[in-house]
Amino acid sequence: MSSSTLESLPPLRDVIAEHGLRATKSLGQNFLLDLNLTRKIARAAGPLEGVHVLEIGPGPGGLTRALLLEGARHVTAIEKDARCLDALSQIASAAGGRLSVVEGDALELDHRALMQSANGAPCRIVANLPYNVATPLLTGWLSAEPWPAWFDRMVLMFQREVAERIVAKPGDAAYGRLAVLAGWRAHARIVFDVPPQAFTPPPKVVSSVVQLVPKPIEHPCRLKALETVTRAAFGQRRKMLRQSLKSVFPDPAAALEGAGIAETARAETVSIEGFAVLARALDNRD
Ligand code: SAM
Repeated sequence: MSSSTLESLPPLRDVIAEHGLRATKSLGQNFLLDLNLTRKIARAAGPLEGVHVLEIGPGPGGLTRALLLEGARHVTAIEKDARCLDALSQIASAAGGRLSVVEGDALELDHRALMQSANGAPCRIVANLPYNVATPLLTGWLSAEPWPAWFDRMVLMFQREVAERIVAKPGDAAYGRLAVLAGWRAHARIVFDVPPQAFTPPPKVVSSVVQLVPKPIEHPCRLKALETVTRAAFGQRRKMLRQSLKSVFPDPAAALEGAGIAETARAETVSIEGFAVLARALDNRD
């Protein structure tokens, strides 16, 4: 039997039919079958020569193939759906040892430990994320300690509405806890949108590819304190901060004055620096 190369693997439509990979809604399965599009996503992760990539949810392997064709030194792919494993092992054979597939739930695995084999080579996270676990996965990566993290870039597909919440700036309707965390730790931008019809089956909404490049912390504070302050502030986002911060500061007006923020301000107008100052004030109480 002649062995396949990445270029000679069967079209993804045939792979899906052969392995009975009917998309399952509960697993957030919306597959990308167009190799031009998956290569465009892979290229948004920058030149991949020498880079180890972590992919979440390879499914039938469209993006996985693209990452390997674009030159990734190694791809480690975590997939929860065991039905995909045969199709992925065909790609692994064609990739000559450059693909490792881990069967499991990405929410439960230690991603950093899985990437130890990179041995100091740059690591990136690239994925067309299952929409139902996309936000907790991103929050987990952005909460990595120590920082800068073990990865130097993330290129991730989200629903457009989630992408807007990631890149939002103070004053934007979508500005909230996710934007504060993302902006505190990374430069985040939407690279391009992907219409529903690019997926099989098509989702109801437009998707966006988001690039996040970790940056050194400009406004130091403890992550847990920042989370406590933003949870209280955005938990009651329509209220003035002197009211919404009552649950975390005995004297919210004094804390706000110390941070140079008007006590009548609302969470959606406060900069990341403002939240960091409040988080430090929280840690320095008593
Ligand atoms: N990467 C493929 C593509 O672009 O065509 C599939 C993307 S599809 C949106 C999401 C994939 O994530 C599916 O293959 C699904 O089985 C997988 N998945 C869903 N939940 C998961 C989890 N908790 N851990 C790992 N994989 C998961």
